[in-house]
Amino acid sequence: MLLLLLALFFFWLVLRDVRSKHPLSEDAVTFNRIYRLILISLGLLCLWFPFEQWRFNQFLTEKATLLGEGEAINIHCDSAIDAIFEDGVGRAGTAYIEARQIIFHYSWCENLKNYLNDPGGRLSRREKFSLHVFTHEVMHIRGERDEQKTDCQAVQRDYQAALLLGVPESLAQDIAVDFYRNQYPKHPYYSSLCYPGGPLDEGLSDSTWQFL
Ligand SMILES: [Zn+2]
Repeated sequence: MLLLLLALFFFWLVLRDVRSKHPLSEDAVTFNRIYRLILISLGLLCLWFPFEQWRFNQFLTEKATLLGEGEAINIHCDSAIDAIFEDGVGRAGTAYIEARQIIFHYSWCENLKNYLNDPGGRLSRREKFSLHVFTHEVMHIRGERDEQKTDCQAVQRDYQAALLLGVPESLAQDIAVDFYRNQYPKHPYYSSLCYPGGPLDEGLSDSTWQFL
């Protein structure tokens, strides 16, 4: 929002300059052109970041809706300024089931973006975890409120989610299996009922568990 206002401010300066009718010397005309060009560049730069964020929100919204297999799911990435006004400190994501909206709290969209830009690269623990956050929150929107059941549904769909988000097939397998084997058992939402053939197994055809 702040950047949009700043962009408007720069464009307004250009407009004000274009409308002013002071006679200019030759040197002043050149200087004036450079001045306008700088203002326009600054304005466009300020628009670029909100535009990129909007595009990423749209991308996640589209993929979440596919993964959720229902009505549209809306995803919003918190900015640093949003974070001041919203609760959710310390949480990665929040799902509002009735509104079908997922909030990715500040820095978590960035983690997911970094992860998707280079899924095979050297990633931080948070960047790796961000994919599971995405799957987990989408499972909530499908109507599940119990954290352990939600997380078990997510574990089974992490592979599917990675593919939807554009991660190459073999990496999607490795990442989803690695999370289930190594991270999931240490997570507070771990359930001892969540294993292949167990009570929480949904028998999905494209489950993460087919690669165990
Ligand atoms: Zn949850």
